[in-house]
Amino acid sequence: MMDGIAGRIAERIRHGGPISVAAFMTEAMFDPREGFYATRNPIGAGEDFITAPAVSQMFGELIGLWCGQVWMDMGRPAAFHLVELGPGTGQMMSDVIRAGRAVPGFMAAAQFHLIEASPALKMVQGRTLTPMGVEIGWLDRIEDIPPGPAILLGNEFLDCLPVRQAIKQKGQWHERLIGLDETGEAFRFVMGPRLGTEAELVPERLREAPDGTLVELRPGDQQVVDHLARRFADQPGHALFIDYGPAHSEAGDTFQAIRQHQKADPLEAPGTADLTARVDFEQLAHFARQGGLAVTGPAPQGDWLRAMGLEVRAAALIGQAPELKTRIARQVMRLCEPDQMGELFKVMAISAQGLPKPPGFTGDG
Ligand code: SAH
Repeated sequence: MMDGIAGRIAERIRHGGPISVAAFMTEAMFDPREGFYATRNPIGAGEDFITAPAVSQMFGELIGLWCGQVWMDMGRPAAFHLVELGPGTGQMMSDVIRAGRAVPGFMAAAQFHLIEASPALKMVQGRTLTPMGVEIGWLDRIEDIPPGPAILLGNEFLDCLPVRQAIKQKGQWHERLIGLDETGEAFRFVMGPRLGTEAELVPERLREAPDGTLVELRPGDQQVVDHLARRFADQPGHALFIDYGPAHSEAGDTFQAIRQHQKADPLEAPGTADLTARVDFEQLAHFARQGGLAVTGPAPQGDWLRAMGLEVRAAALIGQAPELKTRIARQVMRLCEPDQMGELFKVMAISAQGLPKPPGFTGDG
């Protein structure tokens, strides 16, 4: 017998037929009673997964310096919104604030907002950030950010926005859905109807792919970018996204589950593992350019952090506490080495037109 979230999803499928991967992800992650994020903090060495802010304070500090620079480049607006999407434990924002204090005028101008769907993580964020002594508010949706110049940040936010999947059959894209197997006691993938207008979400590079190709559609990225396009049409601002995924659209199933640092079957025991899919940075840039926005990057995370001064910051920290030398060197490697987070993770800025190119991007992007 399936119970809890699995039982409710199974019930929904019995009544209404197979559901999209996106609907499955939403139920598994944000079910208000038992969803993976809704009820607990999964981020940390003893939990389910680790993210860059938990690896090292330097990550958030360099992002804080980045914010300071783009704020100066916007002409130091006397008031602006500094927004983090999906702040997890609040660690990155606390490091951003510490670095922001080094930029004269920055903290007085910044109005801090966190956009977080999980009640449990909101509590953790409150605990992390209260000692910073800065006024911070929570918003439910990106649309709720008040008007004005803005800097938005999202680390490993886009990867957990629900994705849809489609497979090409006889030259047409059909949605890959999740249904029940013969026993009615386990989930399995099934082929669904032909895609309608959603076929527009198929990445350009993959449209002519042969029969049998699986592609992922990211309606959530499109929604986020649509909001940025409306906002940045007449108000200055930047959004910085850091996430894992390829620089160019790739076919294939990247829908994955991580439980206690191990890969797991994404269809098994929904609500007990983190479900994500790779971000398609080419498609993200395409949505942004279509919306009239300026795109910088993607740059590999390691290159971006080095360009932002990671090694200088590491040397300064080691100077203050030589006994931490080995630990800090290990953090730099974890964030930057190509076989760790340095290459798979990318950094991309999406900005209002007409602003100086944001720092950290050394290539032509
Ligand atoms: N940025 C953090 C956490 C990454 S995990 C870090 O790097 O450690 C993803 C975060 O996004 C969690 O805080 C999760 O609850 C939040 N989240 C996911 N989907 C969301 C949505 N649609 N709206 C708001 N927050 C969301």
